Amino acid sequence: DNTLHIIGGGMAGSEAAWQAAHLGIKVVIHEMRPQVETFAHQTGLLGEMVCSNSFRSDDSEQNAVGLLHWEMRQANGLIMQTAEKHRLPAGGALAVDRDPFAQSVTDAIMAHPNISVEYGEITALPDTGHWIIATGPLTSSNLGAAIAAETGAEALAFFDAIAPIVYHDSIDMSKAWMQSRYDKGETEEERTAYLNCPMDKDQYYAFIDALAAAEKTEFHENETAGYFDGCLPIEVMAERGRETLRFGPMKPVGLTNPHQPDVKAYAVVQLRRDNKLGTLYNIVGFQTKMKYGAQTEVFKRIPGLENASFARLGGIHRNTFLNSPTLLDGQMRLKSRPNIRFAGQITGVEGYVESAAMGLLAGRMAAAEILGTQIDTPPPTTATGALITHISGGAEAKTFQPMNVNFGLFPPVEGLKGGRRGRKDRYKAYTDRAKLDWQSWLSTGQEG
Ligand code: FAD
Repeated sequence: DNTLHIIGGGMAGSEAAWQAAHLGIKVVIHEMRPQVETFAHQTGLLGEMVCSNSFRSDDSEQNAVGLLHWEMRQANGLIMQTAEKHRLPAGGALAVDRDPFAQSVTDAIMAHPNISVEYGEITALPDTGHWIIATGPLTSSNLGAAIAAETGAEALAFFDAIAPIVYHDSIDMSKAWMQSRYDKGETEEERTAYLNCPMDKDQYYAFIDALAAAEKTEFHENETAGYFDGCLPIEVMAERGRETLRFGPMKPVGLTNPHQPDVKAYAVVQLRRDNKLGTLYNIVGFQTKMKYGAQTEVFKRIPGLENASFARLGGIHRNTFLNSPTLLDGQMRLKSRPNIRFAGQITGVEGYVESAAMGLLAGRMAAAEILGTQIDTPPPTTATGALITHISGGAEAKTFQPMNVNFGLFPPVEGLKGGRRGRKDRYKAYTDRAKLDWQSWLSTGQEG
């Protein structure tokens, strides 16, 4: 049977269906709403935005998410063309009128002769046929259990606990230094996996006070039910006692500061390399419910991070996602069951736009396979390619957490460094290169 079945009609599932249908494939979307609800969705519509009504920056020259918009527009993306129709004034951001947006996505899908929608929850993994699972961060618990049974429980998370991620080139290495605790690690790669930022006693206590004073966000109603077990927010750990962090994630042991070899740090903040390129570092143990503004303020108090720029800020949310670097191949297939692809937020990307982009790719890849061809994985110099490369192997599997698109995921453009002006030029160089490579992938990469 050459039908493509897609579980979930959200950002990713709708886009995947649209793409495959345009390549002549018959598609069935299986959507559980409105019969089965989630705590965040409000309607039975496809493509519902569960929270903010923004697709973030629309600047395709200076911003990685804006670049992703551009790539999807070039590829006949349903989510982007529908967003354009319902655009609201929002400066440089792409904000939309959410109800008409979801209604339009639903209408476009319903009107397409190659797509049909079957309502109802899917609770088991299909054995045969071509499938894409795009059930999102709020995948129903029955299907979540079936996926966990296939992948192993440790490879499917029900919460993300995201520590803030810093661009390596924004860390002040005259204060920070590279060293693994007790110099552990067999290889050079392991020994350079950690950066350390020292604090003296006054800096440490001021930091604890700043954590306590910072504004926090609350969990959604029902969000934590039955699931939240480990990974306390850093500020909650700090509340348990003024010394708690010093004996936890900020312990100063097994480390020697080469800038001040005779001074013992009172506490040390560790950062761990977050991708194989070494452009991104996450602050170990610093998952947090602090508001974004508060996070940048508090984390810039860390010596060495005064001028840090953040590839993403921390958070803790209900979020079902796979350990994709170990489970998926570059064609987004589950290695253990290649008739099943995954797409959207469940693959470990984060955000409406990123989820739709992974749907676009999965839809095209599945369609090509049904047509007896294969399309190449887009090059990592494109925003879509950078994301798929990250989740299917570029990320560190052991510490894998969901990722927004950002320039840290792109292979560096050589010969462009330093300063504010430097950054503008660098981003422009990234986006120029991406646009050329995306167009070439769209026109030639499709036959493999
Ligand atoms: P979804 O859009 O959620 O689509 C998945 C679909 O699968 C749903 O329609 C669901 O009903 C269906 N489904 C689930 N299980 C089954 C099943 N077993 N059988 C059949 N159908 C099923 N991103 C942003 O960019 N901005 C935000 O402001 C934002 N806020 C968020 C707030 C919350 C509370 C959550 C949970 C996430 C938020 N996200 C946000 C993250 C994410 O980008 C969105 O959730 C996005 O919609 C993900 O796209 P998706 O297609 O992967 O999943």
